[in-house]
Amino acid sequence: MNFRRSILVMTVFKTDTNHIRQPARSTSPFRSLGVAIERASTVVFDDLEAFEQRSERLYDGFSYGLYGTPTSRALEDHIALLEGGTRALVTPSGLSAIVVATMACATAGDRVLLPDTLYGPAKDMAHQILAPFGVEVVVYDPRLDAAIESHITPRTTLIWVESPGSATLEVQDISAIVAVAKAKGIPVAADNTWASHLLYRPLDHGVDIAMQALSKHASGHGDLLMGSLAVRDEALFRRLKDKARLLGYGVSPDDCALCERGLKTMPVRMRQSAATAAEVIIWLKEQPQVARVLHPAEPDHPGHKVWERDFKGAAGVFGVVLKPCGRDAQSAALSALHVIQIGASWGGVHSLVAPSDPRKGRQFCDWLPDGPYWRLSIGLEDSADIIADLAKAFSALVAHAPRQTSNQLGHAAE
Ligand SMILES: *Cc1c(COP(=O)(O)O)cnc(C)c1O
Repeated sequence: MNFRRSILVMTVFKTDTNHIRQPARSTSPFRSLGVAIERASTVVFDDLEAFEQRSERLYDGFSYGLYGTPTSRALEDHIALLEGGTRALVTPSGLSAIVVATMACATAGDRVLLPDTLYGPAKDMAHQILAPFGVEVVVYDPRLDAAIESHITPRTTLIWVESPGSATLEVQDISAIVAVAKAKGIPVAADNTWASHLLYRPLDHGVDIAMQALSKHASGHGDLLMGSLAVRDEALFRRLKDKARLLGYGVSPDDCALCERGLKTMPVRMRQSAATAAEVIIWLKEQPQVARVLHPAEPDHPGHKVWERDFKGAAGVFGVVLKPCGRDAQSAALSALHVIQIGASWGGVHSLVAPSDPRKGRQFCDWLPDGPYWRLSIGLEDSADIIADLAKAFSALVAHAPRQTSNQLGHAAE
């Protein structure tokens, strides 16, 4: 048999078309409780006219998988409802949601204001991508509140807020900032990932764009990446959607369905996480190794009053500053943890610790006491197990502390 004949032998069976075309079958009366996962790059049309008019379907209908599937639109409708918006857009990560919102509002020559506490990679994005394109990026002290006015110029086209802020949890008076911005016609965007729509709805407080990293509380299991932007203004929604389209941002319908599933348990997860976090914080504050706990629900937190005024509750994510102890002691303490795992991201069912230095890359953080910083995200494990885990870590810390702490050891034993 020659080679060409042997390689094409299967073509004698004329079944190829049947392999491509699925037989039609009615799905009625099937109805499931989950959102249907509909995958697509290609969307097909009935006729020439429908195909030629597909771009008109960008904002509502379906034209190409990148611009929306029934699964992503279902999640967007749900987010819009929960945020108190009329429209929402989902993007492939929290960071990409920040990119879309910022690029939709600022172009060369414009000024954007970012709080010093804005999610670190978002600040890096602004400095490394937007600034070289001519956007003026100004980082402000998150404690400025109404005094932010001093940073506003006629070319200021966007103010970001994040409250409580990344890592150090400063609370911003968003209403005061919105009042200043509204008077000058400047849109305000809020990274509301810590609180989520459950504890604070930015749109109800006059914010124009409510953003959250759905990777955190909403998806809730540390296994997917997505972000959302919710608005009440159709023209603004279209600007955001256009920008996401031109940047090539699309989301996987599988991830959307997982996120939709996450939303359903989100309130019970967040309540439980906050309740356990409260127990952990009470215990932490009694430990001699702890210099400070950073959580806005703490009455001695500088932002406590504004937090109490604006927020409906607490999230189980907070910062702990340890007394200065040396790298080896800190490292031994982290290695002693077994219930709490070392990792970035938060808001999921697993308790996590992210040891990092929030002073790095910050301009307005001099108030933070010296010592190692741990961001804790309390998951759904038993509170006694989490506290016992931390107790083991602190024992390891004391055992590995450098010499001068033998005094402290003595005190601790007293
Ligand atoms: C995690 C996080 C983001 C980014 O979300 P990704 O989905 O990881 O890109 C943005 N803002 C805050 C406050 C976050 O914690």
